Amino acid sequence: MNVFEDTLKRIDEIGKKGGFKEEEIAVFKEPKKVIEKKLSVDGKEYQAYRVQYNDARGPTKGGIRYHPNVTLDEVKALSLWMSLKCAVVGIPFGGAKGGIALNVKEMTPEEVEKVSRAFIQAIHEDIGPEKDIPAPDGYTTPQVMAWMMDEYEKIKGKHIPGVITGKPIELGGSKGRGFSTAMGGAYVLRQLLQKKGMYPEETKIAIQGFGNAGMHLARILQDWDYKIIAVSDSKGGIHAENGLDIFKVIKHKKDKGTVVGAEGKEVTNKEILELECDVLVPAALENQITDKNADKIKAKIILELANGPTTPEADKILASKGVIVLPDILANAGGVTVSYFEWVQNNMGYYWDEEEVLNKLDRIMIKAFEDVDKVVEDRKFTYRDAAYVLAMQRIIDAEKLRGRL
Ligand code: NAD
Repeated sequence: MNVFEDTLKRIDEIGKKGGFKEEEIAVFKEPKKVIEKKLSVDGKEYQAYRVQYNDARGPTKGGIRYHPNVTLDEVKALSLWMSLKCAVVGIPFGGAKGGIALNVKEMTPEEVEKVSRAFIQAIHEDIGPEKDIPAPDGYTTPQVMAWMMDEYEKIKGKHIPGVITGKPIELGGSKGRGFSTAMGGAYVLRQLLQKKGMYPEETKIAIQGFGNAGMHLARILQDWDYKIIAVSDSKGGIHAENGLDIFKVIKHKKDKGTVVGAEGKEVTNKEILELECDVLVPAALENQITDKNADKIKAKIILELANGPTTPEADKILASKGVIVLPDILANAGGVTVSYFEWVQNNMGYYWDEEEVLNKLDRIMIKAFEDVDKVVEDRKFTYRDAAYVLAMQRIIDAEKLRGRL
């Protein structure tokens, strides 16, 4: 399964359904710029990538992933999704993504710091607050962002905090960034459930993945009186039909390193996807819902906090069963939205409190949901098709206004 080819296939299909011309769809077929570097650090070589996919709507924006299996095609797919995601929520950015093939679990913090600084030395001409703004992704932390910002500022000889987002608060990070992906997902889900007349106390939710995205979502939704009936992490999952106590689960995960054993019945990561529930939230990995298990899904709604958890074949099966999928480019866009707020605060040198950040995030997510929902209603599209069509239209409009199309 090649995730970039899959995404291009999806762009083709949805582009045609949306009524776009060949040359308009072609805008999405190739990245604007691909940067490939070999980083040499202490006698070892690391393959690094930065892909700037589309910049029609503004400077490109997207995280940097540290993972042994990072490939150029994966980074390309992620950077295309970022372009669409920023357009769906209407923030003035294009899309980018980066990655370095390495295993942080086998490295000392000093080694990670050296590689992070080497990456900035290699790409500093290609990034900047008005050009391309990196951020964290898998296995890159606020500390990594701090090293990268520091290296960039050393090279340029001045303070430029807006070069990177996801920084620690002490170095210009934004309040609320740590749980913004989950918060954005929660706001979008709330809008859909209100539309469907579903009340929190009657809504059963299962969440695959209990990291930054999944854990915070479970905490927020429990706080709003939703019933979280199952959660899982890489070691397995737990299920309690009458609802889990998420604070107990968080404590158990902190003490034992896994949710397994916290309470309830044990379930596997395959079983959690197929549980009887109202809302299923994939919040771990790509390609979890496929043509092999889509027909066994019992949830009425899927909230994609993970990037790319559903394959195009699975999408078709889910649509035929009437399952509503709130797609990743809408559902998990809260993270990049608060990254945008961080960049705005850095550029103006004036910082907001958490309440102001969350109020602004709520407004943007409500507007994005309503914009997508309007396309769903007007054109009888799925939420994924509607979000893609809306984002593609906004990018195409920007390309035309620039005279590039
Ligand atoms: P994370 O590393 O904090 O957490 C990942 C979680 O998934 C962990 O609990 C891990 O144990 C679990 N996991 C790993 N393998 C699993 C498996 N086979 N089955 C079930 N669970 C498994 O990562 P995160 O930041 O929470 O990101 C999760 C997903 O959300 C990714 O797809 C990421 O791209 C996406 N996302 C995250 C953000 C963000 O701001 N954190 C923003 C947008 C999208």
